[in-house]
Amino acid sequence: MNVLTISKIRDGTVIDHIPSGKALEVLKILGIKRGSRERVSMAMNVESQKMGRKDIVKVEGKFISEEELNRISLIAPEATINIIENFEIKRKFRVSIPESVEKLLRCPNMSCISNDNKEPATPIFRIEKTDNQVVAVCVYCGKKVYEIEEYLV
Ligand SMILES: [Zn+2]
Repeated sequence: MNVLTISKIRDGTVIDHIPSGKALEVLKILGIKRGSRERVSMAMNVESQKMGRKDIVKVEGKFISEEELNRISLIAPEATINIIENFEIKRKFRVSIPESVEKLLRCPNMSCISNDNKEPATPIFRIEKTDNQVVAVCVYCGKKVYEIEEYLV
C-alpha cells in the first residue's frame, strides 16, 4: 500500500518515523480503535531518508498526553511527535522510553497474579532497554516480554 498524500490537520497530533508496518499497533497503543470518533489518517511505507520506509499517523481532534505518546516508543523508538494547533506545529519532540507502563500489556505467565481470575492485580511492567531491544519486565513475576506488540491489552 502506498498512500502519498494525507491532508493537513488543524488541531491534533502527527506521529512520524514509525517503523514501516507498525502504524496500526501505534493506534492500538494509543487506544484508538475502529469506531473511534477521532479522525485518523495514515501513510504507510513512505520513503524516508533516515529509515528507508516509514509510517506516519495523524490523529485529529484528540488530545494525547506526552505520557501516552511515550508508550509508542516501545514499538517505535525513533518516533517523532508534532503537536499541531491551528495548522501550525506548536511543539515537536521525540518519544522517550517510559520507566514503567500500567494497563498496557498482559503478562504471558498465566500463574502471575496479574492474570488471577478473581482479583487480578493491575498489570505493571518495568521497561528496560538493552542495546537495540526494548524489554518489558513484569513487576510481579519478573517475566520478560520481548514481543511487545503481541501482549498489548
Ligand atoms: Zn507477571
